[in-house]
Amino acid sequence: MLPWLALAGALIATVPAMAAPLLLVSIDGLRPGDVLEADRRGLRIPNLRRFVAEGAYASGVTGVLPTLTYPSHTTLLTGVSPARHGIANNTTFDPAGINQVGWYWYAADDRAETLWTAAHRAGLSTANVHWPVSVGAADIDNNLPQIWRTGHDDDRKLLRVLATPELIDGLERDLGPYAQGIDESVDGDASRTRFAARLIATRKPGFVTVYLAGLDHIEHVAGPESAEANAALERIDAMIGSLAEAERTAHPDAVIAVVSDHGFASVDTDINLIRPFVAAGLIRLDAAGRVSEWEAEPWFAGGSAAIMLARPDDTALIAKARALLDRLKADPAMRIAEIIDRPEIARRGGATAASFFVYFQLGAEMGRDPAAPLVSPSKSKGMHGFAAALPEMRSTFLIAGPNIGLHGNLGEIDMRRIAPTLARVMGGNLPGAEMQPLGR
Ligand SMILES: [Zn+2]
Repeated sequence: MLPWLALAGALIATVPAMAAPLLLVSIDGLRPGDVLEADRRGLRIPNLRRFVAEGAYASGVTGVLPTLTYPSHTTLLTGVSPARHGIANNTTFDPAGINQVGWYWYAADDRAETLWTAAHRAGLSTANVHWPVSVGAADIDNNLPQIWRTGHDDDRKLLRVLATPELIDGLERDLGPYAQGIDESVDGDASRTRFAARLIATRKPGFVTVYLAGLDHIEHVAGPESAEANAALERIDAMIGSLAEAERTAHPDAVIAVVSDHGFASVDTDINLIRPFVAAGLIRLDAAGRVSEWEAEPWFAGGSAAIMLARPDDTALIAKARALLDRLKADPAMRIAEIIDRPEIARRGGATAASFFVYFQLGAEMGRDPAAPLVSPSKSKGMHGFAAALPEMRSTFLIAGPNIGLHGNLGEIDMRRIAPTLARVMGGNLPGAEMQPLGR
């Protein structure tokens, strides 16, 4: 590139058209129709509806592979697919089950640049309340990261040492005990909302992320669009109102965005995908039913499963796993919609060293109990993790504020466009993002 062109590029990159403080709230599992069709469904969610009336909204957001919370939240914050950021699933791959259901808590696992870093580069201070993959994240000035282990009270001590020093103590002096990390209830959301609002009022961060888990939790238990889910959403709407009020008091020129990570589908059936791998000699269980040896193992992803091979380049093992999967797919009782291989996983932006991905049909999910029957009634009433192309898996994007340059219905958008759009709102950029900001 000619020197003067490089200079012009640098000027464009460093002199944004607009620069605003930003509040980004995620409502886990919020489907676009929950907001856009709220009146028809009799949902009273005035704060979320205000984004539709006064701001801009996607009719749907197409997500990533897999449509799970942690991969999706990392894409929302980086603008890249799981293949690039590396957050492959919620839980880390743990074939022998020794990690006590550890999740991808640690920002060190995210290989891509985040909006927290972009905000810092744009000169904004940053804060976070409970966003996934935030433990030890660079560029969060006030961090209440998401982590739990067992729900024992010792988890409070763990969070205290992983959070920004003194932050929890100061907020708890004003507000009482902070929600435990393992608490995914709407009451937990209410606690985090109070802490976030207080943090915004006292420290006035230029960019703040807030994550609310309660709707997803209830959609799993009671199903999407259930009375319980609707009641949860109405409570969460009030939380959006109080967060927006705190943000606009701290920064009258603030932009506020509400996102979600995936849609939801009703489920009624658990498929025990472990069992046929045991029968085929690809997994060995000990007397207690735990995995003692494995060559190929399904990695739970809700409405799908990644198939991991101990030797991913062993052609004989690949062929053996492929033959087993083809045989399972031929059995209608297994409810398998599609099996994709490594090149297709890569084409869809899926992370991982997975050798195959098994997508279940809507209504079925992978069961977690290796001792269960092959097919059984599901414990959950709602699930995600199904193919991102399905309308049921679409998620939400709402944005409002001065000078955002976006109005009304933005149509169907790709999730990877959200982060670069928000970086631009803050007067910054995310050079590594895979797609252009909205409005360009
Ligand atoms: Zn989620």
